[in-house]
Amino acid sequence: MRCLEICAALALIVSAVALPSSLAQKIAPPFTSLRVYLFDCGLIKGEDPVAYGLNKGDVKNTDMVVPCYLIVHPKGTLMWDVGLIPDSAFKGDKPVSQSDGSETTSSPKPLLPQLAALGYPPAKITYVAFSHYHFDHTANANAFAGSTWLVHAAERDAMFAASPEHQAAYSRLRASKTVILPDTDYDVFGDGTVIIKSTPGHTPGHQVLALKLPRTGPVLIAGDLWHYAAERKASKPPESEANKEQTMASRAAMEAYLKQSGAQLWIEHDPQTFSRLKKAPDYID
Ligand SMILES: [Zn+2]
Repeated sequence: MRCLEICAALALIVSAVALPSSLAQKIAPPFTSLRVYLFDCGLIKGEDPVAYGLNKGDVKNTDMVVPCYLIVHPKGTLMWDVGLIPDSAFKGDKPVSQSDGSETTSSPKPLLPQLAALGYPPAKITYVAFSHYHFDHTANANAFAGSTWLVHAAERDAMFAASPEHQAAYSRLRASKTVILPDTDYDVFGDGTVIIKSTPGHTPGHQVLALKLPRTGPVLIAGDLWHYAAERKASKPPESEANKEQTMASRAAMEAYLKQSGAQLWIEHDPQTFSRLKKAPDYID
């Protein structure tokens, strides 16, 4: 065949094997107001409330849910906490469950395909931040190494002083573009609607996220400042805080913020909070 004929034949083949629109990469449309998508990133079973400064009977359901959050702002996106079990542990779309005898961790589905289905693959995520670096908040951190990482210096230092096994989930962030946050509030998009607040104690640079959503109003996504709602009334902090005095001071500061702002409190691990909130692909605005 001559070139012209070959080109025509190739064009036919290409059009015949073109991806159906459902498989082509979705691109999210631009939005003019703030919204948050919640993902079910798993469940931890077998926790003992006594380890969290509580008595046995203080918590009816001791399960801890693990949400991941995508914040979409007109000026960019922020991924906040990225799961308990890495996507690499999934075989296809089947749920994953792991047990060490006393504790069971599970996750219903991988995170990145859910983000891609909404039109937000990691390449579209402007910023990544974690409430803190524990394994149940950072499982997919390496996937966001191309985003700008928002972190306190004390947290980053603790992360890269941790064991190599622990670092494996986030080791690629060492080379990421990084903004070291101040101890004061940090306004992510410059308009007061997405604020990272410093709340050290659980870890050296633990942080929480204050949103001003257009319809829902102010919301505080509180990381592990509290794990169970009952801890808000407890006089003791959890047993394994990096700094217990700091935890109690951070809790008091955020209780004052909640009172002054009227913000809803979303305790990340609290199943009751999680069950009443809309999940992706739906969103809260
Ligand atoms: Zn946690």
